[in-house]
Amino acid sequence: RKVDLVYTRVRTEEKLLLEALRRRDCAVNLVQDSGMVLSMDRQRITEADTVLMRSMSFTRARYLATFLEMKGLRVLNSARTISLCGDKALTSAALAAKGVPMPWAFVAFDEDACLDAIDAKGYPVVTKPVLGSWGRMVARLDSRTAAEGVLSTRFGTGGAQDHVALVQEYVDKPGYDLRVYVIGRAVGGLRRRSEHWITNTARGAVPERYEVPVVHARLAEAAAEAVGGDMVAVDLLETRGGDIYVNEINHCVEFARSIDETGVPLPDLIAEYVASGAGA
Ligand code: ADP
Ligand code: ZN
Ligand code: MG
Repeated sequence: RKVDLVYTRVRTEEKLLLEALRRRDCAVNLVQDSGMVLSMDRQRITEADTVLMRSMSFTRARYLATFLEMKGLRVLNSARTISLCGDKALTSAALAAKGVPMPWAFVAFDEDACLDAIDAKGYPVVTKPVLGSWGRMVARLDSRTAAEGVLSTRFGTGGAQDHVALVQEYVDKPGYDLRVYVIGRAVGGLRRRSEHWITNTARGAVPERYEVPVVHARLAEAAAEAVGGDMVAVDLLETRGGDIYVNEINHCVEFARSIDETGVPLPDLIAEYVASGAGA
């Protein structure tokens, strides 16, 4: 199989994926996203049959996947999956459409309308940018005054395209959240523990070993299916009461900070999936 690995930076993940693909006799080309110029026609631009999309930019990943599919290539993850997972409001809608359990959520497009809706639900709530990652700008609103401050920034800065607020139920977690890797099927997971309510490893949470129970595995697979994800990391929030919700789905699987704790060879599992021809 011939594979183009599209990247922004060659991080640990990309190095390990490259090695794993080559071990499976894939001919891999590294292609940097910033250098790509794609014409709007069906002309072939590569010898590859498969593209492993590892761009760190949502804008580039989404457009490149769309255009590469248009040119007849198998792209993992698909343009549809990237579009849905990269936008948390669209992820929520896709999960809701399939009845996948998640924190209640709404979107609003106006400061006052949003404040009224939050007041009606009661505090605390969580708001986060619809496009974003690594826990950046995720905010817990404990009071009306906090909500006013955050929402006046959300609606008073940026352009019209930024003026959307995603508001979610605040889930009082027991000190961690859970991540299940779905590579065609649930293959393993990770518990991320933190003193802070934001439990991204990029924000200092400590990765721990987590044996994924069957219920969590099935939930993660249902979430992946709702967005058509071939290889995704599904984040779950457990309530203190033992309920379990899907919080978000990451389309570009990161694992460098937690290779040991995850306990499964993610680069090999991804390479095997790529080499198998699944997800075409
Ligand atoms: P990002 O894409 O930036 O990782 P997330 O939605 O995953 O955005 O939020 C980052 C972290 O914040 C989560 O891993 C979780 O610890 C915490 N968090 C996010 N939303 C909620 C919520 N509704 N309730 C409780 N904790 C949340
Ligand atoms: Zn994310
Ligand atoms: Mg997250």
